[in-house]
Amino acid sequence: GHLPPRRTVSGLLRSAHATYATLDDGTVADYIPSLAAADPGRFGISVCGVDGNSFSIGDAQDAFSLQSISKAFTFALVCDAIGHTTVRQAVGVNNTGLAFDSVMALELNGGSPRNPMVNAGALVMISLTPGDSAAAKWQYLQEGMSRFAGRRLQLDAQVYDSEAATNHRNRALAALLRSYGHMSYDPLLTTDIYTRQCSLLVTARGLAVMGATLADGGVNPLTHERVVGPSVCRDTLAVMATSGMYQRSGDWLYEVGLPGKSGVSGGIVTVAPGKGAMATYSPRLDAAGTSVRGQHATRSLSRSLGLDLFASA
Ligand code: GLN
Repeated sequence: GHLPPRRTVSGLLRSAHATYATLDDGTVADYIPSLAAADPGRFGISVCGVDGNSFSIGDAQDAFSLQSISKAFTFALVCDAIGHTTVRQAVGVNNTGLAFDSVMALELNGGSPRNPMVNAGALVMISLTPGDSAAAKWQYLQEGMSRFAGRRLQLDAQVYDSEAATNHRNRALAALLRSYGHMSYDPLLTTDIYTRQCSLLVTARGLAVMGATLADGGVNPLTHERVVGPSVCRDTLAVMATSGMYQRSGDWLYEVGLPGKSGVSGGIVTVAPGKGAMATYSPRLDAAGTSVRGQHATRSLSRSLGLDLFASA
């Protein structure tokens, strides 16, 4: 199973971009001050097949920070390092039904994050990352994410500084996890690594390659390097399906029929197992923190490209 022929894909991308570029619903995230400076009119879409063929339209070369999209790749890297069972015991795989930064979700669940796609779960994953210092853990993650992308991902210092100066809630979540005995590493150092991974810069084109690596059982379709094992990709896609869009994950799966992960800078990565991946960038977000144009374009392309996992034809 592969993507449709090249001319079909580029025509479909062009028409989805034109259709949804007119949508002006939603607002740019501003709780991280530097994200508020994003141009709300930017819109890029990219698709990458497991054969390495890629197609892009619009602002697919704009750099933006990974934000919560990083959580999916960290989960994969840590699963690959310490195993399916340990990770599942530590974070769980069920939706919280609440926002990505909910403190109540933790309190309701006896201090368990419930899944690795919310901030609390992502913080636990970082505490479990191999490395006996913060610098070693960060290096492990930055190098791993870079292998998914097929090139060295750089940190946006302005986004990092801006979030580091304002991330009181994430620091509180880490401290709360620690008090419940769910955080095995220093909570402030863990939060700092989390803030770094959220500040890594990608483009829609690069993000589609990262997603295509998950679609391809863990082998980067451009560099042919194995980044993680196939069972890890399978686990990652399953948890993206339950929790990648937080409290709106059910709506997303119902509408799009594919696992996806969003971030508050306006990126979304969506994976069609065995076929390829799609990435969108558009900074206006809905109330759950997911790009509005990105959701519409992804839903439409999932159907027109024949990727919806639940469609029989
Ligand atoms: N860095 C952001 C935060 O922790 C990521 C949130 C997101 O993209 N949903 O708040």
